[in-house]
Amino acid sequence: MSTLSELAPDISACQKCPALVTCRTRVVPGSGPDDAEIMFIGEAPGFNEDQQGLPFVGAAGSFLEELLASIQLKRTQVYITNVIKCRPPQNRDPLPTEINNCNPWLEDQIKRLRPRLIVTLGRYSMAKFFPGKTIGKIHGTAQERDGIIYFAMYHPAAALHQQSLRQTIIEDMGRIPAILAQTGRIPEDTQPHQLSMF
Ligand code: URA
Repeated sequence: MSTLSELAPDISACQKCPALVTCRTRVVPGSGPDDAEIMFIGEAPGFNEDQQGLPFVGAAGSFLEELLASIQLKRTQVYITNVIKCRPPQNRDPLPTEINNCNPWLEDQIKRLRPRLIVTLGRYSMAKFFPGKTIGKIHGTAQERDGIIYFAMYHPAAALHQQSLRQTIIEDMGRIPAILAQTGRIPEDTQPHQLSMF
């Protein structure tokens, strides 16, 4: 199978969502090394991301970089992408059809990267990996399935709108090193289960 970065031109040529194709400046496939161990998945590109073709480069992105720095990581060491790869007009919420249309790209990215840890940022990526759950209940918790650990976090932009969430988000990010340290000891069975320490 070819690499994650080799997939980007195909994603950038996608024409599946007419409303998004018309409005977008650039498609935002994702950024990070082809062998990243951690994949962060947000919602959708916003204005700045659409202009630059890169994920999380606006205010939420600055906070995400701060969060990464708090656990001694740089954005160049992790893979960052979104549930949908094109900016919705006026930053509206992604539509279910858009999420469905874009899902094969995300699936392909995960298959190629095979990260140890997937961190969901906000409700759209949480809904894909933790169906039926609510962010207030599961943020900061991890679940392992088929050798990948899934960890749910609030979207970094939530802290920009609601100061009280800032500390929660910082604390949730602070759990990641211990989760990664625990990975090697997780049996690779196919049954979902909660990690013992979270
Ligand atoms: N918010 C997201 O969910 N993704 C981005 O890339 C930027 C802001």
